[in-house]
Amino acid sequence: MKQFLFTTLAVLFSLNLMAQQTYIYAGKLIDTKNSEILEEQTIIIDGARIISVEKGFKSPANDSVRIIDLKDKTVLPGLTDMHVHMEGESNPGEYLENFTNNPADNAFNSVAFAEKTLMAGFTTVRDLGGSGINISLRNAINKGKIAGPRIFTAGKSLATTGGHADPTNGVNAELMGNPGPKEGVVNSIEDARKAVRQRYKNGADLIKITATGGVLSVAKSSSNPQFFTEEIEEIVKTAKDYGFHVAAHAHGDEGMQRAIKAGVTTIEHGTLMSESTMDIMKERNAYLVPTITAGKEVTENAEIEGYYPELVVPKAQEIGPKIQNTFAKAYKRGVPILFGTDAGVFKHGENAREFEYMTEAGMPVMQAIISATITPAKVLNMQNESGQIASGFFADIIAVNEDPTLNVATLKEVTFVMKEGKVYKQE
Ligand SMILES: [Zn+2]
Repeated sequence: MKQFLFTTLAVLFSLNLMAQQTYIYAGKLIDTKNSEILEEQTIIIDGARIISVEKGFKSPANDSVRIIDLKDKTVLPGLTDMHVHMEGESNPGEYLENFTNNPADNAFNSVAFAEKTLMAGFTTVRDLGGSGINISLRNAINKGKIAGPRIFTAGKSLATTGGHADPTNGVNAELMGNPGPKEGVVNSIEDARKAVRQRYKNGADLIKITATGGVLSVAKSSSNPQFFTEEIEEIVKTAKDYGFHVAAHAHGDEGMQRAIKAGVTTIEHGTLMSESTMDIMKERNAYLVPTITAGKEVTENAEIEGYYPELVVPKAQEIGPKIQNTFAKAYKRGVPILFGTDAGVFKHGENAREFEYMTEAGMPVMQAIISATITPAKVLNMQNESGQIASGFFADIIAVNEDPTLNVATLKEVTFVMKEGKVYKQE
C-alpha cells in the first residue's frame, strides 16, 4: 500500500499535476487566534489553502516553489467587512441614478467596487442589500470571471411599507406601485415567510431587515420601529430553515430590542442603543456592527448643499455624529463586536478607516483586527477556513508596511493581497 502511494505520488509529480507551492516569508505575522505577533515565519501554501506555518525562513523543498518575500512587512489574514453595499457608491447624483441607471449600469459599476474592496485587503464581505445584482456579482467572483472579495449577500433587504428599504419611497404615486414580498416589502406573517423564501430562491446567503427607520431613505423618521416583533420572529424562524442568519439595521432602541428578542444575529449601526439593550445583546450573544465610518461620512455630506434630499439632511445631522460614541459605550460594556463599515455610503476601498475610529473609541487594535477576522468567520460559518493564517485555512493573506498595533493607519495602505492562493496585489 505504501509502495503504491509512493508510486502514485511520484507519477503525479512527474506529470506536474501537483499544484505549485508558494512560500511566503513574513517578517511579522499576526496570529489572530492567540492575539500575538510572531516574527520570521514561513507560510507554506498549496493551491488555495495554507498547508503550514513554520518558524524561520524555510528553504524551498524544490525548484518549482514560488517565493514571496514579505520580510519587511507585517502579514495578516485577509480582512472581512460585515456591512457593505457593492451595488452603489454615495455621490450627490445618487438619488437621480434610481431613475437614470439601468441594472446593467449598476452591474458594471459594482465590478469596479468589488475590485477596489479586494485591493484594500478585504477578502470577504457581507453585502447587506441591493437590488439582487450583488448575487450575480458574487457568482461572477466565485467563478473567477472578475476580481473581488468572497461575498455573502442578503440580495434585496426586507422592509415594511414606507420603511427604510421600501424601494419606492419618496417617488410619485404613479411610480410608487405596490411592492410586496418579492420586492422585499413585508406587512404580515405570511409576507415574512414568502419574502425569506423568495430570497432563498433568488440565491441570497442571509437575510437583512430594516428594523427601524434609516438616514438615507426618503422618509421622515430615522429611528422609529418598523416591524412588529411577530413579523421579525417569523423572518428569523423561516430563515433558519435555509441556514440563513438575520442582520437587522436599527438606529432606534425600541426596534432594536424587538429585533434582538426575535433572534436576529447582528444589529447594524445601533445608534440610540440603551444600556438595557446592550445587556440583552450580551445575554443573547447578538453582535453590534458599528459602521462608524458611515456615521462620519453622512455628517460631513449633510453640510454640503444639495448632496442629500431635503428630508435626509436633518436625519444625517442627528444620527451621524452619535454612532462612534454608542460604539465606545457598547464595547466597554462587553457587547460582542463585528467589524463593519457600510461601504457604499462612502467610497469603496476606504473600509480600513473604521479601524482608526474603533481604536479612537477605546478598542485595542488587536481586538479590532479580531473583529474583522476570527469573529466574522464564526458568524459566516467559516471558522475553519477564514480569519486565521493556519494550516487548512484559505490562503487569504495580506500585508502592510508597519505593525498595525503600533500604527493603526498602516491598515489603510495594504501592499499585498492574496485570495485563495492567488496574488492580486504586490507592491
Ligand atoms: Zn447599510
